[in-house]
Amino acid sequence: MSRVAFSDLRSAAYCPRKCYYDRRRDERDPPATVEHIRSLAFRYEALLEADANALAGEPIKTDPDSFRRALEHTRSKLERADRWDPICNPAAESVLATGRDVRGIVHKVLSDPLEPTLVSTGKPPETGVWESQSVHAVAAAKAIAWEHETPVEGVWLEYPSYGVVRRLEMTTRRKARYRRVLRTVRELDGPPARIQNDSKCEACEYAGECGVRTRTLRSLLGLG
Ligand code: SF4
Repeated sequence: MSRVAFSDLRSAAYCPRKCYYDRRRDERDPPATVEHIRSLAFRYEALLEADANALAGEPIKTDPDSFRRALEHTRSKLERADRWDPICNPAAESVLATGRDVRGIVHKVLSDPLEPTLVSTGKPPETGVWESQSVHAVAAAKAIAWEHETPVEGVWLEYPSYGVVRRLEMTTRRKARYRRVLRTVRELDGPPARIQNDSKCEACEYAGECGVRTRTLRSLLGLG
């Protein structure tokens, strides 16, 4: 059975129909802005030394002072966990990880203990991580664990344009959700039903193609 791409799992966790549209799209390389934001995750120490003018020229999403405070908080938190140095100087970078069921790019691999990290270009939620990222994170952990024949208990999610880094435990609930989404992707055969979730559809790049009538459109039409 062919391996499922991390990106398909992530989009199917958001909405199976979105995954269907993603798969039909030819060009799936990330835009240059994505790489620019990701590069922040490999320069944390230099960013902590940078002045406000230099930070203002970086692809950060908060003002320079807020960014520096958030990154200092992240450094303190990770130093207490002995993970600041590994996050700044990972054992491996941009690794194509191939597991039994899934494959994709892991942005950093940390050692002692073995843990993958994924770099998000978006905004972190108030707490934890977004559900689609949780599924992606479990996939990355499983792929790395399979390659190294070593159990992986945690995964890191980095939000470098906000100076935030968070760790996820591989809980039973997360692993069960991952398995459900993996099954959904494997069974994808034709466009799945639309989801009933206005906030997701409003943020979805396929809203027009998909034909959903979101809350915003309904209120514009005086229907909602
Ligand atoms: S618009 Fe809504 S239903 Fe359609 S693909 Fe996007 S999230 Fe899914």
